[in-house]
Amino acid sequence: MNRKIFLISTLFLALILPGCNRANPRQGDPGKAIQPETENKSAVVNKQTPNTPAQILAKHQVPVLCYHRITEGRKGDYTVSPATFSAHMKVLADSGYHAVSPAQLYDYLVYNKALPAKPVMITFDDSRVEHREIAAPVLEKYGFRGVFFIMTITYDKKNYMTKEQIAQLAKTGHTIGLHSWDHTMVTKYKEAGDWQKQVVAPKEKLEGIVGRPVEYWAYPNGVYDHKGAVELSKYFRLSFSLATKRDSLQPLQSVRRIIVPEWSAHTLLKSMRQSFR
Ligand SMILES: [Zn+2]
Repeated sequence: MNRKIFLISTLFLALILPGCNRANPRQGDPGKAIQPETENKSAVVNKQTPNTPAQILAKHQVPVLCYHRITEGRKGDYTVSPATFSAHMKVLADSGYHAVSPAQLYDYLVYNKALPAKPVMITFDDSRVEHREIAAPVLEKYGFRGVFFIMTITYDKKNYMTKEQIAQLAKTGHTIGLHSWDHTMVTKYKEAGDWQKQVVAPKEKLEGIVGRPVEYWAYPNGVYDHKGAVELSKYFRLSFSLATKRDSLQPLQSVRRIIVPEWSAHTLLKSMRQSFR
């Protein structure tokens, strides 16, 4: 008899408890009720089976552009003039390209989420002040958002962005990523202390500045090795190299980019098509 009562009450509890769990967040502070729904949404995404490295490698590559300096009077692969930069953004917009974020690229690569037509990612390395003052307004004019990889030793230094400017970029919808503390290449990090100095500490500090997780990394000099890619996968959803071959086991930690020099608009489009076939 006692056993029967126990079974019935257990069954009763099992029936009402899930209902209580669902109902509780809706009571009281409405601000708090939003959180479980957001969690549920991400839980749904995570329940999908993520693509394997081979499946990721087989997907169409999204063109990723990498800019450095945007200024007059300098020549070389790492500089474009402001007029050229504007012409590049104009031709992308006129040709129907849509700037995508690293979060969109990640969902596309890992969960096959759809991207807008003609996706392109526009990235900037080295925290130069002209990224905020010249590049961001041009991007925004065309409805684009960019990705700015910060080398954190440059905070508030002459010709580099201030912490406020970096925070402002994040607020305007751009993505802030990390580009190490002082631009030392990943292949030179030998001890735990190096990783702490170049990745862990600057990531935390940058997150404090932008008020959100920093989940993307650009390799200093574009240089990486397999060991470094594995280590970075603990901290970042995606890491960006340059035109080198992707790591067959860590494709998310070796996303290819091309450096954009002072090209004509036509050459830009042609190079994008050729490099990311
Ligand atoms: Zn750099």
